[in-house]
Amino acid sequence: MLVVEDLTRRYGNRHAVDRISLRIERGSFVGVIGRSGAGKSTFLRMLNRLAEPSDGRILFEGTDVTALRGRALRRWRARCAMIFQQFNLVGRLDVLTNVLMGRLSRTPSHRALLKLWSPQERALALAALEGFDMGAFAGNRADQLSGGQQQRVAIARALVQEPDLILADEPVASLDPRNTKLVMDALADANKRLGITVLCNLHSLDLARAYCDRLIGLADGRVVFDGRAFDLTEDV
Ligand code: ADP
Ligand code: ADP
Repeated sequence: MLVVEDLTRRYGNRHAVDRISLRIERGSFVGVIGRSGAGKSTFLRMLNRLAEPSDGRILFEGTDVTALRGRALRRWRARCAMIFQQFNLVGRLDVLTNVLMGRLSRTPSHRALLKLWSPQERALALAALEGFDMGAFAGNRADQLSGGQQQRVAIARALVQEPDLILADEPVASLDPRNTKLVMDALADANKRLGITVLCNLHSLDLARAYCDRLIGLADGRVVFDGRAFDLTEDV
């Protein structure tokens, strides 16, 4: 479904990502692992064009994502939900409104600006929160929550976007073990129950092994491992 061909990103004459070619099957849970600076974040951000490729192509169901501009690019971004290490919620807004922000790309923006969310959208957002045991916090300000709670809200926001892909960039890097498990379980649930394809940057090999069907190891912007978690024996 998602095909990456010779994807490259240069900063000056350094290659952050160097000719990566991959096929990613619909419904898979792919872990991208590697040391800090390996190119994981740049790779993930190129997939939804938060970072611009220097070379190569990204094809999604036959469409050349690298060539999209304007409205077509916005439509593509709506199909990819991003999860960031630092959650990226709007702290002064309540939790339910933050989740509804995931609908921005699915609803005319003047309605969202006027807070004219439909009862159906509110119910959808609340159900997404309840799915992660966060329903009781719907009325709280986002900045009152713990990191693990905020990340679960961010995943609920991603789900109401009804994405084809979730791109999670070190989603648990700033969380304690308990919250790490809750957040990874939430991503696994989105993958298994809703069939959303998940690409997740991780620096913990143990986590990658526990959750991912497939691991892609990067070093210096190149793929140095691609296979089942089970087959990975050495640290990349
Ligand atoms: P990772 O996510 O694996 O830590 P990154 O994709 O963040 O790796 O970075 C890969 C390489 O690209 C690093 O050498 C990093 O310093 C460089 N890099 C990333 N973003 C930029 C940028 N905006 N400007 C210059 N260099 C960058
Ligand atoms: P810039 O030109 O500054 O890179 P962008 O519009 O590409 O501006 O992105 C700005 C910020 O908006 C990003 O860092 C990210 O936090 C957020 N953002 C943009 N697109 C998306 C998206 N598809 N999903 C989630 N967040 C996004």
